[in-house]
Amino acid sequence: MDDQETELPPHVLIFPYPAQSHVAAMLNLAQILCHGGIHVTFLVTHDIHRRLLRHSTAVQSHLASYSGFRFETISDGLPEDDPRSGDKVMELFRSFRVTAKPLLRDLLRSDRVRDSDSGRKRISCIIVDGVLGFALGVAEEIGIPVIFFRTTGACNNWAHFCGPKLIEAREVPFEGNNMDVPIKSVPGMDGFLRRRDLPSFYRVIDVANHDLQLFFSETQQTTQARAIILNTFEELEGPILAQARTQWPQIYTVGPLHAHLKVRLTSNVTSNSLWEEDMTCMTWLDVQPAKSVIYISFGSITMMTKDQLMEFWHGLLNSGKRFLWVIRPDSVFGKDWENHIPTKILERTKERGCIVGWAPQEEVLAHKSVGGFLTHSGWNSTLESIVAGVPMICWPYFGDQQLNSRFVGEVWKLGLDMKDTCDRVTIENMIRDVMDVKRQEFQESLDRMAKLARKAITEGGTSYCNLDCLIRDIRLMV
Ligand code: UDP
Repeated sequence: MDDQETELPPHVLIFPYPAQSHVAAMLNLAQILCHGGIHVTFLVTHDIHRRLLRHSTAVQSHLASYSGFRFETISDGLPEDDPRSGDKVMELFRSFRVTAKPLLRDLLRSDRVRDSDSGRKRISCIIVDGVLGFALGVAEEIGIPVIFFRTTGACNNWAHFCGPKLIEAREVPFEGNNMDVPIKSVPGMDGFLRRRDLPSFYRVIDVANHDLQLFFSETQQTTQARAIILNTFEELEGPILAQARTQWPQIYTVGPLHAHLKVRLTSNVTSNSLWEEDMTCMTWLDVQPAKSVIYISFGSITMMTKDQLMEFWHGLLNSGKRFLWVIRPDSVFGKDWENHIPTKILERTKERGCIVGWAPQEEVLAHKSVGGFLTHSGWNSTLESIVAGVPMICWPYFGDQQLNSRFVGEVWKLGLDMKDTCDRVTIENMIRDVMDVKRQEFQESLDRMAKLARKAITEGGTSYCNLDCLIRDIRLMV
């Protein structure tokens, strides 16, 4: 290292998996690191880069003002015009891992990131998505330390880590159809965990199932890295983190990152969206009474059948509540569903509903008119709801969502868990419960948890201090 290079800030490569929630959370971290004086190369696929430049106001506006931030792009192996829609999620997951490994190796060996150039040091640390475990071997070949960033909660990571133990104890695969059988081999979760609450990849008849084994091995691999970053906070997942700390060498809990970013930057933070946000819903919300609206959004990947769509629609209308509903155009199986909704339902919807293709979710949840959130229990949506203090009805789709919804309903008491059911009567009743009957009960737990979240990201709080430690440790990695 020459003298000139010693003067420069450390330089990290951040590499998220190409999906909305992964990119957004890691872009939040990238911004905080840049703000903390670290240079960041943010590695994304060509498709994500194109969409960020088009729709992310964070990228368009203030990220451009950080001289320490730059993009590098690679292929995801799919043709440019592939829609990469919801039902292809596992296909992309399997193919991307194969495509990206040699590309990452080439990039790390190339002059673009290896040598100090145009005022940047060579890369001294890689912060890589925890589902891209292959990066560990590649980085080791080149001699660069790896920190994994897991975009799900500690509970999901711990449940996957305990997978082999569950198989050994014969709790998985499930015998018989009873999904309410208690699960005992995940320390810290006995007493409330049932079969139906395990991450959805456990719902297999063959434990050699490729996806299940992949999740086990990816999770085990993260324990081999220098450290792991989790978008959570100690006060939310303390008991599970205590278990996880027996296996991971170092865990930095730095969340909720979307709110932490606002504290660090003290500016008007903008969105990291891959879709165009329909802002008309904000004007619609502005004229609704306080806490009168139930917000419905199932994230960026969830798909539903036309029958499920209709059950939700009837349940919403029958509840008599006002609603703001995000229906992504690619979120319903089968073509042309829009043209088969009965006119009567569309007319009733106009009276008290607003439907958009993609909403500015953080802003929506923070709006005074929103009183409940019908969610798929994605980890980011869960954190955003906690920070905004909005009670949830959980309809988990896949992955960690089955577990998150159990924590929301049973452990944290922040809402109701509707998993494995989808009928109009249950939906109607749960909306009434969350918006009226049990509102006070949930609101008290939410206010307490939202306060703890804010404390964690305030100077001196757990996540704030952990992020400072992360920045300090990255500086030591030169
Ligand atoms: N989101 C959004 N607008 C929408 C729907 C979702 O901005 O209309 C954002 C939401 O705020 C969250 C992310 O998309 O940050 C979804 O992440 P989550 O982990 O909840 O679910 P996933 O999409 O990974 O299933």
